[in-house]
Amino acid sequence: MHYRSIVFIDLDGTLMVNPFETAVWPAVTAELAAKTGQPAESLMAEIAAEYFARQADESVSPIAAMDWDDIAQTVARRRNVRLEANCVALVEQHAASHSTALAFAHEALHELVSPGRALVVATKGLARYQRPVLEALGLTPYFTAFLTPDVHNGLKKHRRFFGDWPERARLSIMVGDLYDDDVRSPSGHGFRTIWKPGSARVPVELHALDPFERACRYPYAPDQPHPATALILSLRELPAVVQALEERAG
Ligand SMILES: [Mg+2]
Repeated sequence: MHYRSIVFIDLDGTLMVNPFETAVWPAVTAELAAKTGQPAESLMAEIAAEYFARQADESVSPIAAMDWDDIAQTVARRRNVRLEANCVALVEQHAASHSTALAFAHEALHELVSPGRALVVATKGLARYQRPVLEALGLTPYFTAFLTPDVHNGLKKHRRFFGDWPERARLSIMVGDLYDDDVRSPSGHGFRTIWKPGSARVPVELHALDPFERACRYPYAPDQPHPATALILSLRELPAVVQALEERAG
């Protein structure tokens, strides 16, 4: 065991907001709209439909399922047009101006960095779309390693996504904003989970509770069978929760 704990941390919606909504998709759909005469919104809906179809199809490789350029090109081909815009180039161009680190991201990561603890990025986005954003936001130096679907050709629901990282510590913790990716699947892999669903989605009467109590009392939907280990309202609460989990693990 090399580490006291491995803390896997999601990126989008957990630590940062990427430039897809505000810069990448507007450029891609504007070009497709000009070439096809279709409204940009319906072309965006076609891109989203192709993405969800790939996610739901186990025969599509995780890398192809998350390949935004291939998804956009597929929609263009179906409409018999040629798409010049490239998502990687657009991400690189707009990473600094159209992405944001969420509140307390830097403070929480700074506090979490410790010799006995590995902080590992665990994101569903391919490295070529995520790395430029992490770099632009100055978040890269906090991390020991980067897990993206292109590392082990897996998504977070697949145990192979995490490689041999969970074997390097007695305690593996997943931190993220999406129940399915960041609570359901990691619980199945035997990890502790710290869920950050967004404070607006947490009933106000739970706000004053501590994160462990909050996770027990949260009104989970019928298709959310495993409670998270802890539920945080803000990244400000993260370092203390990680430390408490390490103390519990002994
Ligand atoms: Mg996320």
